[in-house]
Amino acid sequence: MAFTRTNVLFAAFECTPFVKTGGLGDVAGSLPGALKCSSCDVRVILPKLRQIPREYHDQMELVAAFDVPLGWRTQYCGVFKLKLGGIQYYFLDNEFYFGRDNAYGYGDDCERAAYFSKAVLEALKHIDFAPDIIHANDWHTAMIPVFLREQYQGEALYERIKIIFTIHNLKYQGIGSDFLFGDLLGLYGCQNAWDQLRWGRDAINFMQGALYYSDFITTVSPSYADEICTYVYGEGMDPILANRRERLRGILNGIDKDKFDPALAPTPFSAEDMTGKADCKTALQVELGLPVRADAPLAVLISRLTDQKGLDLLAGCIQWVLEENIQIAILGTGEAYYQDLFGNLAKEHPDKLAVRFTFDEPLSVRMYAGADLLLMPSLFEPCGLNQMIAMRYGTLPVVRETGGLKDSVIPYNKFTGEGTGFGFMHASGQELGDAIMKAVKVFSENKPAWKELQKQAMAKDFSWKASAKEYRAIYRKLVSG
Ligand code: ADP
Repeated sequence: MAFTRTNVLFAAFECTPFVKTGGLGDVAGSLPGALKCSSCDVRVILPKLRQIPREYHDQMELVAAFDVPLGWRTQYCGVFKLKLGGIQYYFLDNEFYFGRDNAYGYGDDCERAAYFSKAVLEALKHIDFAPDIIHANDWHTAMIPVFLREQYQGEALYERIKIIFTIHNLKYQGIGSDFLFGDLLGLYGCQNAWDQLRWGRDAINFMQGALYYSDFITTVSPSYADEICTYVYGEGMDPILANRRERLRGILNGIDKDKFDPALAPTPFSAEDMTGKADCKTALQVELGLPVRADAPLAVLISRLTDQKGLDLLAGCIQWVLEENIQIAILGTGEAYYQDLFGNLAKEHPDKLAVRFTFDEPLSVRMYAGADLLLMPSLFEPCGLNQMIAMRYGTLPVVRETGGLKDSVIPYNKFTGEGTGFGFMHASGQELGDAIMKAVKVFSENKPAWKELQKQAMAKDFSWKASAKEYRAIYRKLVSG
């Protein structure tokens, strides 16, 4: 059989080590490296966001500059390249769209996303890489398949391209006024696109467009793939997803095992020798201003502060949980409501609760390494990386059994000793509190069982190996079919 190589262009709005606001950044930063092999050339294309550290900006090399047609506008785009860790990255530069203080959260985010999607397709004329597959991620790239099919057919470079679209979080869809359909997307008069993008009475929905137009859809855990086909988790997309179920696959995310490695913790440790972890805990308690106590389990929550992450459940039980022998530390950024709530509680319980309302990756790693428990009571969770990172450090997750949490954490069974964490089912503060109490009890009263749970958690393989294989199989199928 002749040797064929699949060229994949991986498009995302954020990617470590350049910019990260959440799990998408982690995935875009680690999956392409795992996918790359002799039969698969994977390159990554990103917006040249202002947040990218100076050192990387300085190393970038300008490849080309061209115009991007966007409705009635024509916008500048510079494409830069940079090779890092064996991966070829392309960065699309437009100061107006990407020279902002934050990656997201602007009134014209739909325009920025449409621009990025269009610029990715235009850039193909200027880079020396002809993809067989474009792997688009989340709604900021959702217009790629729509533009490709409606505006680029008949051009040899584009005709053979297949699109795989990965949903990292269905809640964020990119909904804008239907005025944008002609004005911004330049699709005026295109009935097919109108039928697929139209949302409600007077809006268009980018994510919906991608779900219709992509050749294959994946999401980031098998359970979430099932859940999003239901009314409760489907965010209005469940009829389309259920309809395309045979073209929708859930593939569990992996983590970067080299980056999150207990051997690189402030005081290194391993499953065989956990003494370093005790030192990490002491140092963390000092850093957070909590009393240094080995006997009190330290539970951490590291998260965007939004309702998705189950913070209301924690708010519902934290008062009575803090009466027990436990310390809690929260690291997060997000809604002011939660900052006020937990900030005030921390003032009331300075010996029990510490809060840091900032985005600080090195601190997050010290917390994963030094904590005993990780709280993750999400209302829904497409995959979740925190619980996998935590388990790598022998920090046992307390999770609501949904989406990727259900697929990655085995709840403790006191009869068999099986488990890698603690689970609860319903979105209730009482159930979360009970699960935390159960964990505290094992920590305090059954050290051998606790140690066994830690060992089992640390033995879990959350590398990208198996998942990368599944993605490559989908690529192959798309290219050959
Ligand atoms: P999501 O993408 O929904 O935010 P994930 O669990 O998939 O959730 O990914 C979250 C990632 O962001 C993890 O790597 C987590 O450690 C990191 N993270 C979240 N909040 C912070 C923070 N305040 N400081 C540092 N890292 C954070």
